[in-house]
Parts: sequence; C-alpha cells; structure tokens
Amino acid sequence: MTEPAPSWLDELPAHLQALDAAHLLRRRRVVRPLGDGYLSVDGERLLAFCSNDYLGLAGDPALVAAACEGARHYGVGSGASPMVSGHSVANAALEEELARFVGLPRALYFYAGFATNASVIPALVGEGDALFSDALNHACLIDGARLSKATIHRFAHADLDQLGRQLAACTARRKLVLSDAVFSMDGDVADVPRLLHLCEQHDALLLIDDAHGFGVLGPQGRGTLAQFGLVGATASRRVLYMATLGKALGVAGAFVAGDATLVEWLLQKTRSYTFATAAPALLAEALRASLRCVERDDWRRARLAELVGVLRQRLHAGLAGTGWRLLDSPTPIQPLIVGDNATALALMDGLRQHGLWVPAIRPPTVPAGTARLRIALSAAHSVADVERLADTILALSPRPSQNPQEPTA
Ligand SMILES: *Cc1c(COP(=O)(O)O)cnc(C)c1O
Repeated sequence: MTEPAPSWLDELPAHLQALDAAHLLRRRRVVRPLGDGYLSVDGERLLAFCSNDYLGLAGDPALVAAACEGARHYGVGSGASPMVSGHSVANAALEEELARFVGLPRALYFYAGFATNASVIPALVGEGDALFSDALNHACLIDGARLSKATIHRFAHADLDQLGRQLAACTARRKLVLSDAVFSMDGDVADVPRLLHLCEQHDALLLIDDAHGFGVLGPQGRGTLAQFGLVGATASRRVLYMATLGKALGVAGAFVAGDATLVEWLLQKTRSYTFATAAPALLAEALRASLRCVERDDWRRARLAELVGVLRQRLHAGLAGTGWRLLDSPTPIQPLIVGDNATALALMDGLRQHGLWVPAIRPPTVPAGTARLRIALSAAHSVADVERLADTILALSPRPSQNPQEPTA
C-alpha cells in the first residue's frame, strides 16, 4: 500500500486558518427584514445602515404585489436564455421603459450586475486594445477588464489629468474608459462630463457604472448621466451607461443603455447575456412597478437628502479633533474613516451593542490604513434614526486631541 500523493485540496484548511488569524475571514449573518430599516441579524433586532436599498423600495407593497401578479401570470422561472425563449413580454417592456427613463436610445436587461460588467467589457475590447480604469472601480469592472485581455492602464482615483496623458500616449485603435459613476466605498461622484470630453478627444468609449446613482441622482432619479444633462438630445454615442437594479430600485438585475447600434452589438456578443437563463418575468414586473415609484416619489430622494444633511452636520462638528473623519460625499454612502482595522471592527461592535448595525470595511476592499464604517442611508430611515446613529458614534469616538494641527476639513 502506497500513501496517496498529497493533494492541494489538503492545503485549504490551513489557508482558511491563515485568513482567520489575519482577521480576514468573512462571515455571513442570517438576516430577516423587520421593516423601517430594522433587520433581525442572527436573531438580534438591529437598526441597519448597511443596505443599498437607498429608496426603501425593497419591501414596498406595490413591488411585492407586482411580483406576485407577475408570478401568477408568467410562472416563476424564465426557462431559457433570452436568445432562445426567455425574452418575455415583461422583460421586453422593461427594456423600453428603462431606455425611456434614462433618456438613451436602447437598453438591454441583464439578470445580474456583476456578470454584466464582467462580460460587456470583453464584448467591446480584446487583445491589442486598451482599457483605462479608475483605481477605485468596482471588482466587476476589474474582472471584466482582465477577462478581455486588453492592456489595462490604471489611473489614480479621479485623476483625469493622468487619464488624459495615458489616452494621449496610447496608440491602440480601440480605447475603453471604465469608471464607477458613484464610487461604492467613498460615495463621491465621477466627473462624467470631463471623462466624456477626454473620450471624445481620443476616440474612446466611456463605460459608466451607475449602480449607486441610478434612482438616487438626477431629476426623478434618472441617474448620474441625467444629473449632468448628458441624456436625451444631448446624449453621446460614446457613453455606454450601466446601472444595477438591486440597489435603489429594490429588486435585482442590471441593464446597459446607449446608442442603438452599440446595444445591438452587445446583444450579439455578450456571453453572460447569451448563455445565461433570462431573469424571471416576475422580477421585470416588480422592476416596472419600482420604476413608477422611483419616478413619482420625489419625497424619497428629499428624505435621503435631509438625512445626509443631518448626519454630516452632527458628525462633522462632533468629530473635529478626534482623528476620525467623514469623507466628503454628497450621496447616501457616507464613509467614516477611522484608520486601522481593529478600530473599525471595535466601532462596529460598539455600535452593535447599542442596537445599530454598520459594516466595517477593511483592506483589500479599501486601501490600507483607510479602514472605515460604510454608513448607507435610506429613505426607510427617520431623522431620529440618523441622530441616534450620529450620537452613538460620537459617544464611542476618541476624545478630541488638544493638538492644534489636527485637520479640520
Ligand atoms: C453592486 C455593484 C455591482 C454588481 O451588481 P449586482 O447586480 O449586485 O451583481 C456592480 N457595480 C457596482 C459599482 C456595484 O456597486
């Protein structure tokens, strides 16, 4: 009897232990929504500031009713790829409504956002082409870039001077610039007009991922492009707009929108579209109901803006001199930078003991030394909820140092 050769599979327990020892082992909590921004988290009732359900639509009765009605009508599953028999009349109607809503010629509805970016990029560029990517872009843009085999030029976050130099120096025929519209861990908004201007100068296409701006920014929540007036008659064929439908829209999925020929090309060439089962029609019906709420309910965005103001005002004054700082974000993503991982985890834990749930975000999701609490506000929160959060953070914050050179910004 010979010993079996050692397998790489036998190494996995040690790798898991190493992650655990480095405080990098991720654990899921089992949650259940309790309404009004509360979650049951492993059985404990907590006021949650960690959801991207910015407009409070995920549990809205109008959406639930539309999903139930959709299930009665169409059943639960779509049965096949949209290229075969999965493109239901509900999904087709949703695409038209999405295109009209964002003010672009045509839209294509995908079952998931990650897969959308991961496969749209390889449909547009390949070996010998060039990609330009903001250093803080979402993981799915990065994965799509790698899958494409195009040469990747990374530019420092929001450093459009550097991007301009990279574009000018590039001789590739096809150039694609990738950027989040609202950066998911910092909450800041990309300078889309300037990005577009650079793309026009250098014959590049701009892919904008508006996962966190769609529904929240722009008139009636039409998104970041609409906020900058780059839609309708002033839309550019150089912009491919992408947004997800599981955040402010409260459901699931994603879409791309832009020039009709460009979208037709993606319909032909995007592998996660062709070779994946279509999103169920009941989701399309829930999304159509959600779009009506997003368009009509300006009060949801007004409430969010009010909550952002309340949080920023309380924390800004209270944190002066503590070494903790709120990033300068106009969106419902309000990151509180505390620095090291242990502090971020201790703060998360302290808040949890006070019935509040705010996720600590550590490297590698964010750069080393910028561990933070990612506070996400929602129209489901009240002013009193946000005041409670701010006051609890202040009570747990370090005492202001007497050092007069502390930054005040
Ligand atoms: C969440 C997110 C995605 C992924 O979308 P899913 O529909 O959740 O797969 C893509 N891009 C950004 C910027 C995101 O925040």
